[in-house]
Order: sequence, then C-alpha cells, then structure tokens
Amino acid sequence: MTSYADRPWLGRYREGTSTGLSLDHGSMLDVFAATVARHGGRPAVRYFDGTLTFDDLDVRSDTLARHLLEQGFAPGDRLALYTQNDPAFLVGLLGTWKAGGTAVAINPMNKTRELTYLLTDSGAVALLCLDELWEDVARSVVEGGGTDVRIVLTASGTDDQSRDDERVLRVTMSQGATPEGTTALRDVLAQDARGDSPPLPPVSAGADDVAVLTYTSGTTGVPKGAMNTHGNIAFAAKTYRDWVDLDEDDVVLGIAPLFHITGIVGHIGVAFVTGATLVLTHRFVPEVMMDAVREHRPTFSIGAVTAFTALTGVPGSGPQDWSSFRVVYSGGAPIAPVMTERFDAATGRYLHNVYGLTETTSPCLAVPLGAKAPVDPDSGALSVGVPVFDTVVRITDDQGRDLPFGEVGEIVVDGPQVVPGYWNKPEETAENIPGGVLRTGDVGFMSPEGWFFLVDRKKDMINAAGYKVWPREVEDVLVSHDAVREVAVVGVPDEYRGETVKAFVSLTPGRSLTPEELIAWSRERMAAYKYPRSVEIIDELPKTTTGKILRRELRER
Ligand code: AMP
Repeated sequence: MTSYADRPWLGRYREGTSTGLSLDHGSMLDVFAATVARHGGRPAVRYFDGTLTFDDLDVRSDTLARHLLEQGFAPGDRLALYTQNDPAFLVGLLGTWKAGGTAVAINPMNKTRELTYLLTDSGAVALLCLDELWEDVARSVVEGGGTDVRIVLTASGTDDQSRDDERVLRVTMSQGATPEGTTALRDVLAQDARGDSPPLPPVSAGADDVAVLTYTSGTTGVPKGAMNTHGNIAFAAKTYRDWVDLDEDDVVLGIAPLFHITGIVGHIGVAFVTGATLVLTHRFVPEVMMDAVREHRPTFSIGAVTAFTALTGVPGSGPQDWSSFRVVYSGGAPIAPVMTERFDAATGRYLHNVYGLTETTSPCLAVPLGAKAPVDPDSGALSVGVPVFDTVVRITDDQGRDLPFGEVGEIVVDGPQVVPGYWNKPEETAENIPGGVLRTGDVGFMSPEGWFFLVDRKKDMINAAGYKVWPREVEDVLVSHDAVREVAVVGVPDEYRGETVKAFVSLTPGRSLTPEELIAWSRERMAAYKYPRSVEIIDELPKTTTGKILRRELRER
C-alpha cells in the first residue's frame, strides 16, 4: 500500500485527515448553499455573452423545484437531463436536488434506442431536454409510451446567452419556438419575476442520497446507472479543489461533457464547492471554445487529451492563449508521453494525468500539482498518478490478494468517492463493488515510489477519443441488419481517435452488402462515437469450440 508519509502535497487537504474512508462530506445542496452565502453575487457561469451569478442559479433552481413539485414530482423521483453544455443543465441539476430528486445524466449524442433504455431503466418521471433533441429523438420515445416520463421541459441552446452572438451560429443552436406539448424552461423561470413565490418546502438531501445516475457500460454491455451520491460528489469536488488548489478566483473551462462524471465533478462540482466561474460553450467546437478561452481567460480545466489536442490545433492559437491557465488535467483516456511534450510545446503548460471512473465519481489517482508523471522504462507508459486523499488503491491478483510493487494486477479502489452501487442492479453491484470496494477491471501496477501505471484497459472495451464503446452493444445493433449473420466488433489503433471501432461481419447466405452500406446503416442507429468506422466482410468468424467468437484473434489481425 502507498505510504503518504513523505508526500508533502497531502498536507493541503483542508477538511480531514486519513482517519477513515467514510468521512461525511455532506450534500451538494449544503455545499451550494454555502457558496451562495459567500459568493452569491459572483459569476457562476459564463455562456457566450451571458452571465449567471450563483444567486441567479439559486433563484432559478428554486423556481424549477417549485414547478416540479407542483407537477407532482416527489422526493426520490428522477429527472433526466438531455442537453448540451448549457446553463440549463446546472439549473436542472440543482432544481432536481432541491425537489428532493435524482438527476439522470444523458449523453446528447444518444439516439432513440439508447434514450429509451436510459429513461426506462432509470424510471425517470421528468425530462429536461433541448428542444431540437425533443423534436429529433425524445418526442417519439416519450409519446410512444413505455416510459414513466410525464413532465417535459424544453430549453433552447440560446437561452441565457444574453444577446445575439455570431459564435452561436457556429455551434448550431436552435432558436425555434417551444415544441408543442412541452413547457419551456424559460417560461417556468419567468415566474421568478412575480416575486411572490411561496417558499420551497425543506428538502433533506443527505450525503448518502443519490444525486446523479451516470450511466456506464458494463461487462454485459448493458449500461448501468452508477449511483453517485451527494457525499461522493462533494468529496470528489473537494478533492479537485484541494489537489489543484482552486478557489473563487479561478475560472474553469468546461471542456468535458456535463453528462459525464468528469463534467459533473470537475466542472460543476468544482464551481459549486469553490465559487469559481464555469465557462460553457454549448458544444465542443474547438474554434468557438478557443474564442471563449481568449475572452474569459480560464485558469483550470480537466478533460480528455483528445479535446486538448483539438484545442491546440486551432489555427492561429498559441502559448499566449494558454497563459491564463495555472493548471491543466487530463483524464479518461491514456496519454502517450509524447502527448504531454506536444501539449507543453503548444501551450507552455504541463498536462497532468488523472485517472478515474464513473464509479469513482471521477478522481482516484492523479499526478500531484506541480509534479511530473514518471514514464515506466519497460512499457513506456506514463504514470496516471498517486492515490488522491483518503483513497486506498491496490493492485490485486484474481483472488483479491495484494501484489508486490511492479507486478501487474487489477486496480482496486476504496474511498469516499466510490459509488455504493448500480441502480437496480444488485448482482452487478455485488460483483464489481463487493463490500463497497471497486474492482475497476483495469490492470496496472504500482512502482516502489507509489506511482500507478495502467497496463491495459478493461479487456474488450474500445476507447475512441475518450468515449467508451462496448463492442457487444454495437454488435447487437449490427446483427439486427437482416443481411448480417454474425459480427464481432473490436478496437483498432487510429491516428486521431487513439482507437476506433472496427466490425468483422459474415453475411446471411444469398445476401450481399457492402461495408459502406453497413456503415451508413449503423450510423443512423447509434451515437456518432459508436458506429464502426470500418467494416470487413469475411466468410466465417473465428470461434472457440464452444462457439464463442474470438475477438482477440480478430484484433490481432
Ligand atoms: P469512465 O467510466 O467513462 O470514466 O471510464 C473509465 C475508464 O477510462 C477507466 O476504467 C480506464 O480504462 C479509462 N481511464 C480513465 N482515466 C484514464 C487515464 N488517465 N489513462 C488511461 N485510461 C484512463
């Protein structure tokens, strides 16, 4: 186990000491209320030309909570958030918490099939979505029945951007009328103007209440809702605050998607816990985000290395644009050592590595502020860091026994950020989080100095530019094409995305299908990051004698 004794950076933790793993980090509502009390008039969000203060967020989320309760939303109910990186996401999150509910974070790239599953699995009774997502995807899902959704609020990407901004056009936001059959969030919020709203009934959100369901893919390929509690998020957000030394003067660039745990903790949580300002740009369009960098001068960000690479590639950008950044962290996907060198050359900033999962509510291993991650001389891997505060990370063998330094085994995590389980999935919880300790499914090793290195990721998971793709799910869709007999999906190296999705397919006898046709077909049926970028049609897929398709063999081709 790592010894903390000689690590001075650990002394910066303000709230506790390593006395135990179940410190009560409170509720995110208490965290937010404390920040409103201290920094209410300070900017919480910058969104194009618009600004919302913490007081604005507080009043708006009160109004939304009141509306939800009037509509029959009850404590413990779920509200699904299906938006881009918009202020509406924050208002929806806080409003849900204030009404005693749990938010369900949904990737706006998800299509009908995925949205249907997530709404059904979470049992969401309310949905807050962008109006174009309502028209394109959600309307048919909700109106088709089969979900419990009965409260629908829509928001426009142009809400809160303050005034016309030509950048808005570049990120393709809708500016249309409120879709029929839905209530516009802005109309609900306009009720603030009356100023005679009754006070909200008191809500008791405790540290152990589930704040957000964030969906992850699992070994069966069925997405599982990780139950990130208020205490998990409060701990994780405070971890970033103290690891990176953030306060109310910081400006956080919202480069990660808000539906992902990195966005929820590393952007929203950090702003709520410190009073820092969060810069949002609706979608990730590198040129638009670079404009926001130049205008708002961020001091901190955390996101996937591919996003930072895209940002440094904006023509005309250079180290002067990054001069306001005090520190940059990258997590969610492997960083090649050469990437930190390139980032440094482009920005004059060191890219700190951080490792975590949806189930660890973002951080569990991180490179200390100001330190440089060592590179393992044998494998050439860049270290993902050392355990964060109050967190025990072990390398274990198949029987769960600790392995000595340098030996490769499964990475196992115990700490206040580990979720108590998966929503309505007791078996998967018992298997992956036995006794509250997470078996990550990642393999790695620890150096004698306490640095952790990732050797390989979960056996078959594909990591395309930070997006996790589970092959089984893609295979299930592909095999539903009637000309497809059998299919196996694997990750193959890709210059830009790090890894990309490739499918090997055998056809139904007597049918013909070109790779291009199948790619176009699958593109319509799944999120853009999931569909196979290449398809190879072969006569027979290699199989074991028991009939299992050998993905490994295909990958090695
Ligand atoms: P997610 O639950 O989507 O956040 O994905 C978690 C997975 O991303 C981990 O199990 C790792 O396989 C991978 N991952 C996260 N952080 C890193 C990192 N810094 N380097 C390499 N892989 C990472």
